[in-house]
Amino acid sequence: MAGEPQADCLFCKIVAGEVPATVVRETPTTVAFRDINPQAPTHVLVIPKGHYPDAASLATGAPELAADVLREAGEVAAGEALVSREGGPGTGYRVVFNTGSGAGQTVFHAHAHVLGGRGLEWPPG
Ligand code: 5GP
Ligand code: ZN
Repeated sequence: MAGEPQADCLFCKIVAGEVPATVVRETPTTVAFRDINPQAPTHVLVIPKGHYPDAASLATGAPELAADVLREAGEVAAGEALVSREGGPGTGYRVVFNTGSGAGQTVFHAHAHVLGGRGLEWPPG
């Protein structure tokens, strides 16, 4: 059923505490933890505790949970001083949802990459 834990899912195991992670924020519905292979000085993954295979299925199946993930991405960025809570510019950050293996998705439990702390080129690679 949508949102139920999947036995073979790495990020469900992180939610369950069965695989360790460096958690930076947790809410009743989300967990944010540092990426094991960071691509920027700040590289945090924000995941819903429920299992959805990608961002679009999360938004379709649980829109409030998708909003929780996006809000938490902003909280992580503010906590890492990438933006000011008062609305100042900071250095900014990027939120990425790789979707599909051709776009680099390797873990099929929806996750937002929050990237910042260095110059971020546009368009991305
Ligand atoms: P994707 O490639 O699916 O968009 O992102 C998956 C991310 O999960 C990658 O950036 C990868 O470095 C990260 N990752 C893979 N295994 C682990 C792990 O065991 N712990 C943590 N913290 N991150 C992981
Ligand atoms: Zn999962």
